Amino acid sequence: MTHTNNDTQLIPVGISACVMGEEVRYNGGHSQSRLCRNQLTEYFRFQPFCPEVAAGFGIPRPTIRLIGDPEQPTLTYTKGKKEDLTQRLLDAVAPMVKRCEDLDGFVLKKDSPSCGMERVKVYQESGYPHEQRGAGLFAREIMKHFPNLPLEEDGRLNDARLRENFIMRVFAHHHFRTEVMDQPSYHNLLQFHSSYKYLLMAHSQKAYKEIGRMLGAGHDQPLQELLDAYLTCFMQAIKKPASRGGHCNVMQHMMGYLKRSLDSNVRQDILRVFEQYRLGEVNLATPMTLLAHYINQKGSEYIRAQRYLEPYPAHLGLRNQL
Ligand code: SF4
Repeated sequence: MTHTNNDTQLIPVGISACVMGEEVRYNGGHSQSRLCRNQLTEYFRFQPFCPEVAAGFGIPRPTIRLIGDPEQPTLTYTKGKKEDLTQRLLDAVAPMVKRCEDLDGFVLKKDSPSCGMERVKVYQESGYPHEQRGAGLFAREIMKHFPNLPLEEDGRLNDARLRENFIMRVFAHHHFRTEVMDQPSYHNLLQFHSSYKYLLMAHSQKAYKEIGRMLGAGHDQPLQELLDAYLTCFMQAIKKPASRGGHCNVMQHMMGYLKRSLDSNVRQDILRVFEQYRLGEVNLATPMTLLAHYINQKGSEYIRAQRYLEPYPAHLGLRNQL
C-alpha cells in the first residue's frame, strides 16, 4: 500500500546532511542512510544540517577531531598546527540550534566530532584517544538546549529495537507538541496521558506510577511547570526500549477490557500467543494484531484510543522485527 502524506502532515525531523545523502563530508562524499532517505521520508520531513560546512570549513576539507578533556573538548585539525576551531563551530551552530525548536527528532552522524551523539573519540596530547568518549560539539548543543528531543545516530538505527524506539519517540514527541503544547491546558495534558498510558506502562511501571502521581498532584502547580516536568519524565521513561515482559504485561492488562466479551476458548488462544511472544517464538506484531483486532471490535472507546495499539503507522512494519 502506498501512503501519501502531504508536506504539512509530515513530522519535522533534523538530520546530519551527509546522512541524508548530501555530499558534504570532509572528502566530498556522503553517508546516506537508506532507511531515512527512502522509508522515513514518507512520514518525516527531514531538515538537513551540516555544522562544518556552516562554519566555513569547506568541501573537501582537512579532517578535524576533538582533543583534551572529554567533558569539555576542543576542536582542532587532525594534522598540522593545533588551531582551536571550537568557537568557530559553536558560532556557526548557534543559529542552527535555534532552528531545532520545532523539531520532533534528530538523526545524527555517528563518530563525527561535530555530529556524533556519543562514543566520539577525544584525543590526548599523546595522540591516543581517551578511554572516556564524548559527544560532537553540535550534538552537545542540541542535547543541552533540547534534552527531551528524541535523538539517534545513523548506525544505531540499524538495530531493530533502537530503530523502533526512536521512531516511536518521534511520534510521541510530535503528538505532545501538537496536541498539548499548541493549546496548553491541564485537560489536554490529561487527554494525552490517557492515550499513552499503556505505552508508558510497557516501558516502565515505575514511571507510569510516578507520572500518575505527578498528574494527581499537578492541579495546584503552575501549568508550564507541570508540562515541563511531565515531558521530561515521559520522554525519559520511553527512551529505553520496552522488554518482552513489559509488552506481555500490558497486553494482558488490555485483555482485561475484553473479559466479558470474549469466550474463554478465544481468550485462551490469545493468551497462548502472548506466551509465544514472551518466549521469543513470534514477533510483537503477531499478538498485537490479534489484540488490536478484538479491541477494535469489542473494546470500549477508552481502550480503542490507546496509542499503544498503533504508536506509529503499522505500514512501517517495525513490530515485525521486535
Ligand atoms: S557528520 Fe555532520 S559535520 Fe560531518 S559532514 Fe555530516 S553533517 Fe557535516
